[in-house]
Amino acid sequence: MIVSTQKPLDQILAALEGAARVFIIGCAKCATVCKAGGEEEVFRMQDELTAAGKEVTGTIVIDETCHMLRTGRDLRSRKEQVEEADFLLVLSCGAGIQSVAEACNQKVVAGTDSKFLGNIRRFGQFEQRCSLCGDCRLNDTGGICPVTVCPKGLLNGPCGGMEDGNCEVDRTNRCAWVTIYERLEQQGRVENLHRTTASRDFTHKRHPHHLKLEK
Ligand code: SF4
Ligand code: SF4
Repeated sequence: MIVSTQKPLDQILAALEGAARVFIIGCAKCATVCKAGGEEEVFRMQDELTAAGKEVTGTIVIDETCHMLRTGRDLRSRKEQVEEADFLLVLSCGAGIQSVAEACNQKVVAGTDSKFLGNIRRFGQFEQRCSLCGDCRLNDTGGICPVTVCPKGLLNGPCGGMEDGNCEVDRTNRCAWVTIYERLEQQGRVENLHRTTASRDFTHKRHPHHLKLEK
């Protein structure tokens, strides 16, 4: 899921400067799970904006704000409230915010910061395990991502800063490459580490990506 956090209220109010009427949009998927833009946060934002002297013309929590057709359709179903607003405040990931921007002519304000693609450890705990590099190397590393879990993204590690199995960038973290070694040793595949891995092809990271599934 996309992990996002809500921007501080003073930043949101600064972005809404000059707006008397605001329509608030949340997302029922990722932004709800990380408590950045679900129903609860949308209603709290409504109270905060009202207390700050804004008129909230309406609110909606769209099922998946990154779904462009659904976002357009849901906003059209609230056309009047949307059109009454000077600004649309969106509490979803950056992809969802852009779906809204494409669906409407009003000024759109981002109320969140999108952080990373996160695994959910348990409620409220998210961990970054994949950086969407487009050239997955997990087959060679025992299912542990060196691109993400090593802060330097080294494909051949560990670096000289590793000490007692811990990472030099943050000594409270285990070195990703020590973890990879241990996993491969457990699986009897340490020979994977006897060869040098070719550097990444950064064209896979070129933006923007498009993927069209064929039938
Ligand atoms: S190598 Fe890491 S960042 Fe790249 S796709 Fe695989 S898990 Fe994601
Ligand atoms: S100590 Fe290990 S995890 Fe940390 S930067 Fe060096 S190779 Fe990467």
